[in-house]
Amino acid sequence: MVSRVIPVDPFDLVIFGGTGDLARRKILPGLYRRFLAGQMPDEARIIGAARSEMDDDAYRKFVSDAIEEFIPKSKHDKAQIKEFLARLSYVATDAQAEGGWETLKGLMRDGVVRAFYFSVGPSLFGALAEKLNEYGIADADSRIVVEKPFGRDLASARALNKTLAEHFDETQIYRIDHYLGKETVQNLMAVRFANSLFEPLWNAQHVDHVQITVAETVGVGGRGGYYDKSGAMRDMVQNHMMQLLCLIAMEPPYKFEPDAVRDEKLKVIRALSPVPHEDIVRGQYRGRPAAQGVKAEPSYLDDVEDPHSRTESYIALKVGIANWRWQGVPFYLRTGKKLRARTSEIAIIFKEPPHSIFGEEDEWRENVLAIRLQPDEGMTLSVMIKEPGPGGMRLTEVPLDMTFADALGEDGTDIPDAYERLIMDVIRGNQTLFMRGDEVEAAWAWTDPIIEGWEERGDRPRGYDPGSSGPEDALMLLHRDGRRWRELRG
Ligand code: NAD
Repeated sequence: MVSRVIPVDPFDLVIFGGTGDLARRKILPGLYRRFLAGQMPDEARIIGAARSEMDDDAYRKFVSDAIEEFIPKSKHDKAQIKEFLARLSYVATDAQAEGGWETLKGLMRDGVVRAFYFSVGPSLFGALAEKLNEYGIADADSRIVVEKPFGRDLASARALNKTLAEHFDETQIYRIDHYLGKETVQNLMAVRFANSLFEPLWNAQHVDHVQITVAETVGVGGRGGYYDKSGAMRDMVQNHMMQLLCLIAMEPPYKFEPDAVRDEKLKVIRALSPVPHEDIVRGQYRGRPAAQGVKAEPSYLDDVEDPHSRTESYIALKVGIANWRWQGVPFYLRTGKKLRARTSEIAIIFKEPPHSIFGEEDEWRENVLAIRLQPDEGMTLSVMIKEPGPGGMRLTEVPLDMTFADALGEDGTDIPDAYERLIMDVIRGNQTLFMRGDEVEAAWAWTDPIIEGWEERGDRPRGYDPGSSGPEDALMLLHRDGRRWRELRG
């Protein structure tokens, strides 16, 4: 199946933090892929802006190296890369100082979309917004893209929203959560709202529970200092996992358009129940001493160089949604580092049939709709069928596999990365897959008391072994409800 590519309007995209890690790994390679796909019109221009002094050629070399490193060799076409690089230029600017702003203004063209990607720390958002207005670089139709973290609590998120609102209208602000740009996540909406099969079952009457897992095998590594100030709850649950939960739990929007979708997500966040402390398990990975031929592994405390840190590298929670549709259906969320497998998955576990006519209760399995975000994006629906052959009426579970790469007849490398899709949405002026200010604030309003609770009690995270599936207590969170976590498989 050949996917349709509709070129976007001509644009000037300025990437503040254009020499940073995110620009190098995701934004710039993503833009190259959109160029290769034919989505970038001839008049599109990309301008890197950061503090380092360099000229256009040096920046093109930086971008060409990034393409070399992060794009598969099969897509390295010298002529194409050259043509792509010709659209790039660079301006040295400091968000907090003068210099470079008039040059940047001079590069902006009339009659094309202007977008400004703030790929810098949030402490610079305000200064950048101010400079763009002070120098008349942004116009009334300009868009700004802001990266996570969007605040570290409700007060700081409100302050950030207020600062941005001084210079830009909400319709111009694109708060990025790259999970929403994933093919599978959007497919979750397609599966729910473009089929009549699932939606009638999507409620407390038929769904037993939901599991959302984001597991990583790596530790905090060199990001220890940054990570230790946030932890799994702030880094993953408040934003990415909350967004996934919203898409599963929301009511059908009346239309697939920005405010209709975001209104429904907001209602879910507002309906989240407070989480009692016995429904939360936090963990920190332990280290491992060197053994024959195997290097020692640092613990979380070693990684963050603070033996007293109480920040969690793992969290599991049982979350309830107080509304008609989800009354009594637990949403179990877990995320952590240094776990057994790298996997992100949403699993909808349906209730067992009310009565088994086959008398084989022991082999009975519930139907599960599993939506995999990584490693390979796709969906499987497990169903019970008769075991083939003449052995009598024995049941077996088989997956109906909807792995996109197979279904679409592609090798998987053509599925756009979340960032490239979202950047194209910015150029198109479509905010559906971006978080609105009130959504972010509502998410913090739910998160803050949870964090304050464990801080006030002085709770210490439980230790867990690297390569395990998390602390023992997290298993109990489900066992005590007569359920179990799905296996962590990469
Ligand atoms: P980085 O430290 O690698 O790069 C920061 C960039 O900002 C550099 O280009 C630097 O020159 C520029 N910069 C710093 N101070 C500046 C100033 N005063 N004026 C102008 N430019 C300045 O950071 P990063 O990893 O690229 O992250 C950028 C943002 O994206 C951060 O907010 C981060 O939290 C967020 N983010 C990063 C990732 C990732 O994978 N790297 C993922 C999600 C979110």
